[in-house]
Amino acid sequence: MIKIILLGASGSIGKQTLDVMKKHRKDFMLTAFSVGQRTRCISSILKTFPEVKNICIKDKKKADAYQKRYPNINFYHGDEGLVELIKHDDGDMVVNALVGFVGFYPSVVTLECNKDLALANKESLVVGGEIVNKLLKTSKGKLYPIDSEHAAISKCLDVDSDNVEKIIITASGGAFRNLSRKELKDVKAIEALKHPTWTMGKKITIDSATMVNKCFEVIEAHYLFHYPKEKIGVILHKESRVHSMVKYKDGTYRADISKPDMRNPIKYAIYRKMTDFKTYVATDYHDFGPYSFNDFDYERYPVLKWADYVIDHKGIMGAVLNATNEVAVYAYLDDQIPFLLIEFLIEKMMLTTKNIKNPSVEQLIEADKNARKETRKMIEKWRNNQR
Ligand code: MG
Repeated sequence: MIKIILLGASGSIGKQTLDVMKKHRKDFMLTAFSVGQRTRCISSILKTFPEVKNICIKDKKKADAYQKRYPNINFYHGDEGLVELIKHDDGDMVVNALVGFVGFYPSVVTLECNKDLALANKESLVVGGEIVNKLLKTSKGKLYPIDSEHAAISKCLDVDSDNVEKIIITASGGAFRNLSRKELKDVKAIEALKHPTWTMGKKITIDSATMVNKCFEVIEAHYLFHYPKEKIGVILHKESRVHSMVKYKDGTYRADISKPDMRNPIKYAIYRKMTDFKTYVATDYHDFGPYSFNDFDYERYPVLKWADYVIDHKGIMGAVLNATNEVAVYAYLDDQIPFLLIEFLIEKMMLTTKNIKNPSVEQLIEADKNARKETRKMIEKWRNNQR
């Protein structure tokens, strides 16, 4: 029986995690969870998982109101509440399904508390991969990725991690993959939100369209599997059936193939201690149709170069990349800036920010704050010039 603390229970990954746990009720207990604004899901989660003892809600007022309604459960609030929840709950594994920088510090605390970390919050590694890896050396907690590509690579490496020539991350190309760069000038957020193969949250769907998501995944792979950037490749595979591959020195490949369903990587991350590996979607090779694989197009998706840049420079550069992107993506979703300004802002910030080597957690938090402020300023300036 694994006791789970689920951070970000109302989001896309959170809901699918609950779905996996519901299907394997005898193997899991949900001891604690957190939600942001969507508090309405709390009562239905408690109906399915009455064993919950701790809940964190973003808003203090709402947390107080819920505390009155459920006196036997401890309610926490805000970002500090997430940390308290991890520290006080006796769960064995934290599933971090938070979106963005807010997920970084809870990942640190999870490992400090010697709990296992099933990580869907890729920003934790993009921002603080060095710190997380250092913690993993002393923590009793282990790290299991919940990203379809990284779960796929893990599966392959679990079978054979000798004689690896390269790990190959597949990319669908996102919602705008059939548009030229010229055509990208006027694309609206509402169109970007129609991802061709995956149904995901808003932020990550835009990150897929800009390829920032793949950029994050290369950095994530570097910290998870400890390969240098030369041994991490990206190829275009528009069907999203081959979730990633490992190429071995004898010229053979090992790949993980299934219909796109995030419950598969979730299951692998939270279940891998056990032996039961039922699949959810019946997969038959006839369903897949022909596969296509193409070289990655660095001119079409210039943003991918920042992955190598972050791996080379480390320090605070991952935090700068992530913060700039977060601010830019929400401005784009809000129709404040055009699509291509996202990558322009990233380029500007990456080239003008002075790096700090081996930063502390506090320095990373500071770097995040500064990058947000600078990006907002640049957006403001750009908007004033448009008037
Ligand atoms: Mg992914």
